[in-house]
Amino acid sequence: MALTTLEESLDLDGRLVFLRVDANVPLDNGAITDGGRIRAFLPTLKWLTERGASVVIASHLGRPQGPEDHHLSAAPVAARTSELAGFPVPLIPGVKGDAVWSAMEAMKPGEAVFLENLRFDPRETSKDDSARLELAMEWASHVDACVVDGFGVVHRKQASVYELPRMTPSYAGFLVAKEVEVLEQLTSRPERPYTVVLGGSKVSDKLGVIEALLPTVDRLVIGGGMVFTVLAAQGHAVGKSLLEKDHIEIVKGFLDFASKLGVEIVLPTDIVMAHSFSPDAPHVTLPIDQLEHGPQGADALGLDIGEESSKAFQEAIEGSHTVFWNGPMGVFEFEAFSKGTRAVAEALTTVRGLSVVGGGDSAAAVRALGFEDNQFGHISTGGGASLEFLEGKQLPGLEILGWQPPVAP
Ligand code: ADP
Ligand code: MG
Repeated sequence: MALTTLEESLDLDGRLVFLRVDANVPLDNGAITDGGRIRAFLPTLKWLTERGASVVIASHLGRPQGPEDHHLSAAPVAARTSELAGFPVPLIPGVKGDAVWSAMEAMKPGEAVFLENLRFDPRETSKDDSARLELAMEWASHVDACVVDGFGVVHRKQASVYELPRMTPSYAGFLVAKEVEVLEQLTSRPERPYTVVLGGSKVSDKLGVIEALLPTVDRLVIGGGMVFTVLAAQGHAVGKSLLEKDHIEIVKGFLDFASKLGVEIVLPTDIVMAHSFSPDAPHVTLPIDQLEHGPQGADALGLDIGEESSKAFQEAIEGSHTVFWNGPMGVFEFEAFSKGTRAVAEALTTVRGLSVVGGGDSAAAVRALGFEDNQFGHISTGGGASLEFLEGKQLPGLEILGWQPPVAP
């Protein structure tokens, strides 16, 4: 069954709509450093208010210990939403309770308010089904419909994402619908050649996605911190680079499986080896069979792919019609070790077919390196959610909106 989406024919005039978004923006001393996640749900918000709905916007923010965690109040998010939407979106100081219900009911058609950080109520994320149900029921008795537009949370069973949509007429917002449409193209009908580029810190985080993707991709390019476990599996010494020893065997298994399937595995041929994990660490570029032969010997650690590897990765990407990229190629947060990530991002912008960037840090990396969102086919707003989607898992927040993962052929 397909996702239930917002249709022109929906009559929302005068209805109270609960809009669950993912406005979990990065904060620095209470100031929002990247408002991308707010911009992402504005089309849905505007569509609803223009049709006369009264909209209660709800999101989580960070991991508060309770309602006393004032520095995680949704106040700055509400303020930025007002600014970007161009109409007032006041914060209601609470998640539930009489003051909240009366503020909601006082709204006129076309108005919007922001609820306080949903995680101020521990029932939102409770492991206890009945606790989540209880909170969802309180909301359900005050709203007429629910719209889920936070793709970053659809892989979680949380009161506002899973239980509430079960109790009210519910719809996917435009952002969620777009994410599902793009990611479905990757799982069911990618134009070939299809290349997946993986990086980031841990190979253990990506085992599920590697396993699920191997049968569908033509080429798998691996860089980032996770590549050292792969290089170690091939018998290379990697110094003090990130290494997950416990996973060397399973990685060997994947390499064999890939060669059986005829999937081309593209690995770096050179690595930038640094003296220490710091922005100004002295570093040298070494071939992969000599990573411990630099001035620092076996104490050096790999913080980026080398120039030769960057070129090879770019060629692999540029010759593809579909590319999915998750995980930076190096420690991009340090300028000196951001070149590999930049090279991959640049190559993605030249892909004529579909290019998709998924993953929280990967999305942050392309923005920090000065790329514009529209240089890519799609930047997924959900890190974990996009990976779980590609793994073929049923995501609770999508299931409740009528969506089923395609059955493997
Ligand atoms: P995403 O959030 O996009 O899925 P990950 O969370 O898996 O990505 O990984 C991002 C992190 O990986 C970044 O903080 C980056 O600094 C780190 N990283 C990339 N390459 C290396 C490396 N060679 N050594 C250590 N950390 C690395
Ligand atoms: Mg991450």
